[in-house]
Amino acid sequence: METVSDVKTRVYRFGNKTADGNSKMKNLLGGKGANLAEMSAIGIPVPPGFTITTEVCTEYNELGKNKVIKYLKEDVKKAIKNIEEIMGTRFGDPENPLLISVRSGARVSMPGMMDTVLNLGLNDEVVSGLVKKTNNERFAWDSYRRFIQMYGGVVLGMKPVTKEDIDPFEEIMEHLKDKRNIELDTQFTVQDLQDLVYDFKDAVKKQTGHDFPLDPWDQLWGAIMAVFDSWNGDRAIYYRKMNGYPADWGTAVNVQAMVYGNMGNNSGTGVCFTRDAGTGENVFNGEYLINAQGEDVVAGVRTPQQITKLGSERWAKLAQVKEAIRAADYPSLEELMPSIYSELYGYQEKLEKHYKDMQDMEFTIQEGKLWILQTRNGKRTGAAMVKIAIDLLKEGQIDEKEALMRIEPIKLDELLHPVFDPKGLNKDDIIAQGLPASPGAATGQIVFFADEADKYKYTILTRIETSPEDLEGMNIARGILTARGGMTSHAAVVARGMGKCCVSGAGALKIDYKNRVLRVDGKEFHEGDWISLNGTTGNIIEGKVPTMEPELSGEFAEIMELSDKYRTMKVRTNADTPKDATAARNFGAEGIGLTRTEHMFFEVDRIRAMREMILADTIKGRKVALKELLPMQRSDFEGIFEAMQGFPVTIRLLDPPLHEFVPHQLATQKELAEDLHISLAAVKNKVSELHEFNPMLGHRGCRLGITYPEITEMQTRAIIEAALNLKEKGIAVIPEIMVPLVGTVKEFVAQEQVIRSTAQKVFKERKDTVEYLVGTMIEIPRAALMADRIAEHADFFSFGTNDLTQMTYGYSRDDAGSFLEIYLKEGILTSDPFEVLDQEGVGQLVRMGTERGRNVKSDLKVGICGEHGGEPSSVEFCNRIGLNYVSCSPFRVPIARVAAAQAAIS
Ligand code: PEP
Ligand code: MG
Repeated sequence: METVSDVKTRVYRFGNKTADGNSKMKNLLGGKGANLAEMSAIGIPVPPGFTITTEVCTEYNELGKNKVIKYLKEDVKKAIKNIEEIMGTRFGDPENPLLISVRSGARVSMPGMMDTVLNLGLNDEVVSGLVKKTNNERFAWDSYRRFIQMYGGVVLGMKPVTKEDIDPFEEIMEHLKDKRNIELDTQFTVQDLQDLVYDFKDAVKKQTGHDFPLDPWDQLWGAIMAVFDSWNGDRAIYYRKMNGYPADWGTAVNVQAMVYGNMGNNSGTGVCFTRDAGTGENVFNGEYLINAQGEDVVAGVRTPQQITKLGSERWAKLAQVKEAIRAADYPSLEELMPSIYSELYGYQEKLEKHYKDMQDMEFTIQEGKLWILQTRNGKRTGAAMVKIAIDLLKEGQIDEKEALMRIEPIKLDELLHPVFDPKGLNKDDIIAQGLPASPGAATGQIVFFADEADKYKYTILTRIETSPEDLEGMNIARGILTARGGMTSHAAVVARGMGKCCVSGAGALKIDYKNRVLRVDGKEFHEGDWISLNGTTGNIIEGKVPTMEPELSGEFAEIMELSDKYRTMKVRTNADTPKDATAARNFGAEGIGLTRTEHMFFEVDRIRAMREMILADTIKGRKVALKELLPMQRSDFEGIFEAMQGFPVTIRLLDPPLHEFVPHQLATQKELAEDLHISLAAVKNKVSELHEFNPMLGHRGCRLGITYPEITEMQTRAIIEAALNLKEKGIAVIPEIMVPLVGTVKEFVAQEQVIRSTAQKVFKERKDTVEYLVGTMIEIPRAALMADRIAEHADFFSFGTNDLTQMTYGYSRDDAGSFLEIYLKEGILTSDPFEVLDQEGVGQLVRMGTERGRNVKSDLKVGICGEHGGEPSSVEFCNRIGLNYVSCSPFRVPIARVAAAQAAIS
């Protein structure tokens, strides 16, 4: 066993225009490691280094630290030697030291979710070597104090004590600043930095009980293990859960030679994007800081400057709303270091062409030499996703299929959300201006702490800056507002990935966590006050702003058209009203897969007639009430047929138990008794007669139509008469009448007879006919088992996977919330089966039901109308087993169209 694990390659080297790995090895090397290898191989100047594979992370979790170090030791030594040779330095050598960075890197980018250690290899001796080598005492000591600070936090677990506290190292620095009466880190003298190093080490000893490790190899192993540990940290677990990533992927560890952006004014560091990650526009953009280390840009401590001149101008223009041009944004890198800028411009072009996608790159300039630290496919908003896919297609970089595959269907949802109505905005209500970090509109109540993001229904998480710990709160909040940090800060990057509205770097805001107050321009806003954010302009607005429906961009329509070109499965909608049906048509629905007719009975003017029908003691009484309902139902159906313009419409007969329609409050019972001129006792009597212990398994579905055939008669009449009326107007409709909750063949046959004889009657009266179908829902496991027998009679099947999931699992749809959360947390279930179709279990019934039905009737039309019809992985399954259509709520129609196209392509 050990010999097997001993022979596999655990360490992959890169640098000096060669590499052991390549970009296709993401699963093994992580996204970052695979891209570093690829970049090195295509001649991009990346600092040399090596990647420890994701498999080792799994080994670490299974076998523990000592075993893993034993397996890695020789390879890591060799790989460090390789870096030493390329860089001409030596690890731990005080005369000519090599310093390294240690970073995580899973197969997908999980920004900020795991840890990084920079400047590793420094100790009391090496620091003096660095002084000599660089001739820069200040730089060397500043690197050393940064290293202790990072290593202390990441590897040794030095954290703030309470959430109102600040980081223990920051606290020491603040203390010293007060004592020295200075404001900025850059004002520390060499002596100050030396004192800080001493105090930091002292703080480590006090809090952890151990000395700070001074041996570079101990430091390296500590950092590697900390990266593996961070894979199972709370943040990473939450992020995985949120995105559905499995725990056994593991993270790789990337070890790389350090290059320095903080070696004076000819050094710097930055982050850039080959296109705008917010809007998708094809403009190179990004941010940098002179004389700084990489983390400074993302952490948002100093608000960075723009890379391009155009970028500076864009933000200045937006900022003019408050006449506060951000002086800090100037000058751009383009103006300050034109030759470095043009080199960087060349690399970004080369990398985007190589990867054929928008790249998010990190770079460092060390004393006038440019190094590219990382590149990856950039996170983007839904709008940017659509625009970039279409633009790359038009530029000829990718083909149509690839453009479609670039769409994450669920993210289309972002484009369908309301935006602020410019007419509803009062300019005087704009309280400040930040950077438009992630587009969209958000209104909510202010909260200052991520763990309080659920304190109100709609919240705006308002922070000086965000950190990876805030992830869960950021996900819950409606919008994110930060006082510090630029377009590439943690808040901005994460918000764009989530498609969440974010305004960052609003420097005018003064946030006081202790008193939970936000001060700006002489005004105060407290926790719970309402504010609005416009992530498209960067406006921060007092109070609530009215919203309007978004305009769907040309690129959105182009993606939809492409989807229709490639998909083979139809997409219908679940709609109960002409309004919903029209909305769904606009989203491209090709018919209705489910009209829940009971929803029509709940409207105020109809519920009375419905109740009269339920309370009637005789068939005659019921028929009188049903006669009142008939014209209302008929006009509903006419409206829906008209909206659907000849597309198929499936109408389901009454489904829910009757007790849902009667009043349960004494006051409303009294009202009803008076209204219908019957005694209160009679009303109460009926209500208790209708009471069921388990209504979901009680008198509902076709059981109603069988016990009260007059209801089926009325509904059939309304449907057929509506279709005949439309025929007269020149609109051809083929109604599909659907019987719910069938479990036995005879149930279906009984209802079919009522439907067909009623239709015949109407045809005779009207001396005209229309074509119509009679089919059934398959939503009881027994129906799936008996599908061949049912198909002998039914014209079509529609899988009601809500009920089918409920009855297959035996989980009540209405009560599962009480345990599902724990099931998901414990990993007993990997997803909520009411959201994502359980392909293994419930899916078997869907597949089997379809096959059995089609064995009897080869052209049997089969669809799905449960909630799963709009969920991408379920849509893919439906396509795979050959369903004719999926049906989902109107807003999910675009998602289903793309998902169906992707399913067809792959
Ligand atoms: C179903 O059960 O999947 C279904 C569509 O019907 P309802 O949700 O109305 O029970
Ligand atoms: Mg159902």
